[in-house]
Amino acid sequence: MKADIVTIFPDFFRGPLDYGITRRAQETGLAKIEVHDLRQFTHDRHRTVDDRPFGGGEGMVLKPEPLFECLESMGVAPREERVAQRAKQSVVLLSAQGQRFTQELAAELALLDRIVFVCGRYEGVDERVADFLADRELSIGDYVLSGGEMAAAVIVEAVMRLLPGAVGNQASTQQESFTVDVKVKSFGGADSTCGSNGLLDYPHYTRPAEFRGMAVPEALMSGNHEEIRRWRRQRALEKTLRNRPDLLEGAVLSEEDSKFLAGIKRNRIELDETRDDRR
Ligand code: SAM
Repeated sequence: MKADIVTIFPDFFRGPLDYGITRRAQETGLAKIEVHDLRQFTHDRHRTVDDRPFGGGEGMVLKPEPLFECLESMGVAPREERVAQRAKQSVVLLSAQGQRFTQELAAELALLDRIVFVCGRYEGVDERVADFLADRELSIGDYVLSGGEMAAAVIVEAVMRLLPGAVGNQASTQQESFTVDVKVKSFGGADSTCGSNGLLDYPHYTRPAEFRGMAVPEALMSGNHEEIRRWRRQRALEKTLRNRPDLLEGAVLSEEDSKFLAGIKRNRIELDETRDDRR
């Protein structure tokens, strides 16, 4: 996979992508990351990339000409051409107004040969870039950053760790938080696994078995695979219900899962009623 990042701050990327999995992916030839300095596609003495917005208002806006020229210089075909050729490429405009980036989208992007990231700055990017150059606008969350660089680094990391061979044990990326195992989903059951299926991950422990009076849960030390599976699954269900109940709607749940969740909810109601009685 090739990732091209277009930015006015190319030095930003010295560091974040030079560690761990993204570094290894580049060293082993699985991935290539190239950073492009947008200012090289300007034609004035001041290397101007921004201008005031039409209609007035706050701040400056990234001009369209350097962005179009930059992508043309990289051999990125116009959008209609890419679509017609079903090219396995995508031009991603980072934007707070974009579609929310998710693990599911990371998996979709990991199937592509090339992703071009356009990092905005100031008040944003001339809308013609979203309308005619980019294939999609992506946001990494409901907050506003000063630029798209941090968001591009986040997406590159999330996508590259899903490339086959990027992570030592590929199975580990299939049982993580948010991951829906499509095979399991199509068979309508989650009972063969303790892994994610759309839930948050289960808790992990390592040695020592006891640390400052804090012991590792007994089930994990039992050596009984079924007991371990059930314990992990139940903790994942509890954590998801507590921290991200919205995920439960899209999660693949077995009958055993649903019964367990119903039990927690029943207990909560009983607890609330007892508290009310005491008041
Ligand atoms: N005026 C814009 C708005 O209110 O939506 C915010 C512009 S922001 C200060 C500058 C640039 O940061 C954006 O063009 C975008 O590239 C990037 N950015 C900010 N928040 C982002 C987010 N949540 N996800 C992805 N990129 C973001």
